[in-house]
Amino acid sequence: MGLDGIFSSERGRRVHCAVNLDTKTDLSLETIDAALDRARDRGEIVELYAHSPGRTVKPEVIEHVLAGAAERGLAPVTYADFANGEARAPGLALSFDDSSVRAWSDTLPLFARYGARVTFFISRYEIFYDEEKALVTGLAAAGHDIEPHSVNHENAPEYVEKHGLGAYLRDDVWPSIDALEADGHPVHAFAYPFGARTTEIDDAIRQRVPVLRSVEFSYSGIVSPCPE
Ligand SMILES: [Zn+2]
Repeated sequence: MGLDGIFSSERGRRVHCAVNLDTKTDLSLETIDAALDRARDRGEIVELYAHSPGRTVKPEVIEHVLAGAAERGLAPVTYADFANGEARAPGLALSFDDSSVRAWSDTLPLFARYGARVTFFISRYEIFYDEEKALVTGLAAAGHDIEPHSVNHENAPEYVEKHGLGAYLRDDVWPSIDALEADGHPVHAFAYPFGARTTEIDDAIRQRVPVLRSVEFSYSGIVSPCPE
């Protein structure tokens, strides 16, 4: 598939990009298998993401990915692994975005069955109930990686255009990092809402976070925010 941006070496990429597994994207199992094959055959790390198991993505698709990665000997890679120089290729970096902490917790047994370690990019953590924050702690305790995905899920370039870069960082980025760190989740990576980004914003966020994740679109006719 023409999705070069979702493959990297152990060193990662200038900006990481993942492709969306959610049902709405109509990504076929054959395409997923081809991506896993390529990672195995070329010794690369392939990056995939979804949102809410059972709602936006079928658990069977998650299981297909995890089983396929295990069969091919792909190592589980988190975004903290990239930041720490501990990413191993061939590998699978699977992540989940937004706030579906209950659905993620319900999926822990599936992850465990395949020895998977995944990254949860969390938005709106500041307004989570205490029970939800406790579930996040449970995800981390199970070996998964907890990272920020902004406060209010703003489109970064649009917010910067309207309010300036300083306001974007102050309103939507830094507090999402601070809130996780205050609760004992060290931050290594930031995932852009909608994958929307610019080089200027990348450079600003890198003051605090070494690894950035955007997205690559699996359909043609739309400009992907993933850099070349
Ligand atoms: Zn999101």
